[in-house]
Amino acid sequence: MSETIQKTPDDAAGDDSVSGASILLDEVTKKYSGQASAAVDGLTLEIPAGKIVMLVGPSGCGKTTTLKMINRLIEPSEGRIVLGGDDVTDIDGDKLRRRIGYVIQAGGLFPHMTVENNVAMVPKMLGWDKERISKRVDELLELVSLDPAQYRGRYPKELSGGQQQRVGVARALAADPPVLLMDEPFGAVDPITRQRLQDELLRIQEEVQKTIVCVTHDFDEAVKLGDWIAIFSNGAQLVQYDSPERILADPASGFVEDFIGSGAGLKQLTLARVNDVELAEAVVAHPGDDAKDTLARLDKASHNHAVIVDDRDRPISWLSRRQLGRMETISTETDRQLPVVGERATLNDALDTMLVSSAGAALVVGRRDVFRGVIDVQTIMDAITAAHDAAIQDTGHEAPVGINTGSMDQVADPKSDGGRS
Ligand code: ADP
Ligand code: MG
Repeated sequence: MSETIQKTPDDAAGDDSVSGASILLDEVTKKYSGQASAAVDGLTLEIPAGKIVMLVGPSGCGKTTTLKMINRLIEPSEGRIVLGGDDVTDIDGDKLRRRIGYVIQAGGLFPHMTVENNVAMVPKMLGWDKERISKRVDELLELVSLDPAQYRGRYPKELSGGQQQRVGVARALAADPPVLLMDEPFGAVDPITRQRLQDELLRIQEEVQKTIVCVTHDFDEAVKLGDWIAIFSNGAQLVQYDSPERILADPASGFVEDFIGSGAGLKQLTLARVNDVELAEAVVAHPGDDAKDTLARLDKASHNHAVIVDDRDRPISWLSRRQLGRMETISTETDRQLPVVGERATLNDALDTMLVSSAGAALVVGRRDVFRGVIDVQTIMDAITAAHDAAIQDTGHEAPVGINTGSMDQVADPKSDGGRS
């Protein structure tokens, strides 16, 4: 990483790979002028270094206001913000924002600037030299899986929604800030792209280990991405602050139950990842291979389909015996509808992908889209039961602290009756 981060000794509990800083909202209140009640009412929230904390709750409950007080796009009316042990409540907001990456819907890119200039913005403001900036831009575009040679010079309108979002993440990470704030970052893309961007964020987070605070109104997204989830009701009243597993297994109140929605059993699918389950092996072949040989290999393995991969082991098609029977050598054709999921996808994502393609299984790919194996519906069904049982038994962990000390005093303790009033 090219920028040194000031860390306080208590940060990240001695884990060297964590570059994130802890955040503390200390009795923070925001009252907009002309509003009868506070948008955020005496919120105290501990956000541990290197973790992803999801802020969820109904529209208007104060999520965005809470997020923007962290980088002081909104000034708190009362309370303190502590970043990596330093009180930053009164430091210059512009300076603070260079230490905090910010990602909004559709990336929030400047339309008149190339990808390169969008990503280079903060490093330029920090006065980095040209060579360092150029190296950093390449590094970041690689990180978000965009080929620098191909994308540096493009304008945002020449990118898909998903690609714009990737550039937005690259830009936010440019100066290697310890904290990344995201406000409904994947709200503007289609469900399959959304799923891939979420997977990618998890992969990037494994590398960079920032402290990420992410707002969403999508509970499934919160469960998928969050190490911790803060569920708010109006006035940013914290109703429950706990791990996704515990919230699903033991909702603190009727409000949380309603918010989780129906099919809580199915939600367990969002807890387990594709790389948590055992994948089935497949017969793999390459374009140009002899079709009869491939059929013989299917016979031997008692399989009905062969996975065709390109010269970089990326799946391009999934051929049945009947399709192979019509070929002499295997075709180079790429199937655009191929049901493919990443390893970090949730079982819920995998099931969605199968439903969309009306296949009873999906192909799993790992880093650089290399084929890893096959996941089928039965594997997923078996995993639901296992995930549920495990969550019920997990009582030995300690959640970070969250509480409101505003007018509507309320403690978000998983054991208390939080929001039922
Ligand atoms: P969320 O992101 O959870 O949808 P917000 O934080 O945007 O909620 O808004 C919380 C409350 O504050 C809402 O009642 C909203 O109408 C109000 N609010 C937000 N921004 C402003 C503003 N600039 N001026 C006045 N009221 C605002
Ligand atoms: Mg909002």
